[in-house]
Amino acid sequence: MGIAIKLGISSCLLGEAVRWNGTHKLDRFLVDTLGKFVEYIPVCPEVECGFSIPREPFRLVGDPSSPRLVTSRTKIDYTERMTDWACKRVRELEKEDLCGFIFKSKSPSSGMEAVKVYNEKGVPVKKGVGVFARAFMEHFPLLPVEDDGRLHDPKLRENFIERIFAFKRWRECLREKQSRGGLVDFHTRHKMLILSHSPEHYRVMGRLVARAKEVPPKELYEGYQKLFMEALRLKTTPKKNANVLNHILGYFKESLSGDEKQELLEIIDLYRQGTVPLIVPVTLINHYVRKYDQPYLKEQYYLYPHPLELQLRNHV
Ligand code: SF4
Repeated sequence: MGIAIKLGISSCLLGEAVRWNGTHKLDRFLVDTLGKFVEYIPVCPEVECGFSIPREPFRLVGDPSSPRLVTSRTKIDYTERMTDWACKRVRELEKEDLCGFIFKSKSPSSGMEAVKVYNEKGVPVKKGVGVFARAFMEHFPLLPVEDDGRLHDPKLRENFIERIFAFKRWRECLREKQSRGGLVDFHTRHKMLILSHSPEHYRVMGRLVARAKEVPPKELYEGYQKLFMEALRLKTTPKKNANVLNHILGYFKESLSGDEKQELLEIIDLYRQGTVPLIVPVTLINHYVRKYDQPYLKEQYYLYPHPLELQLRNHV
């Protein structure tokens, strides 16, 4: 039985009317589509920290690298209050075993990047991080995080969702089979996926796994987890994906007919040139994996990293 994917989320994105003016920012994709596969843990820093609805809006002011959180008209500084609450809240969130967090963009409390920070003349620069978002990312540096705005970009969306599913599998691996064999199996099944992001990380991780017996367990698992999440954060490109697809083609050397091989090569090339999306060569490969019962490829998460219903590879 698999574990649920728990994601933290800014409450207003779920449709909760908690914003300063009593409105919400319901995001249909997050609630109706992704919501079928994850369990959300809502967090509204401003309300949970004790501010009313409605309330005077906040803004970030001062030094963009460590701004203050103040009310925008009356200029009351609530930085300490929010920071203290945020430090407590992130410690509480440890017990939820989150696989990621989706922040509300642009918010002085919840925004993860490019939040407006005003200088003394009232001129903003989009360089800030919301107070709660900063505390969260510092406390959980490896957890996948995104905001609702960035998730409209198909590539960022695919990458984020791939990472939360990967992190969930990693959690399962740690829970079920913390053994050298378990780690080798995990690493083997993620080979193509890791290669599609970073061949360099795959090599370093391979060396770590090979030394598994000599490395103390804590160092081994923490080291592997860090490399794994770092690798998946790096962008895939048509070139890297096409290399992986060609590598996969090598496993069919014996089974595919000349025609089938040629057709697959052509489709990989069409993908590399941007004429068809990634789902096209992957679907054809999955068809051959089933047809020729290719046991090694059947196990590769690269071929099914997240549910098809999310249609994430139709646009990348
Ligand atoms: S952006 Fe954050 S603080 Fe503002 S309403 Fe949404 S969850 Fe609450």
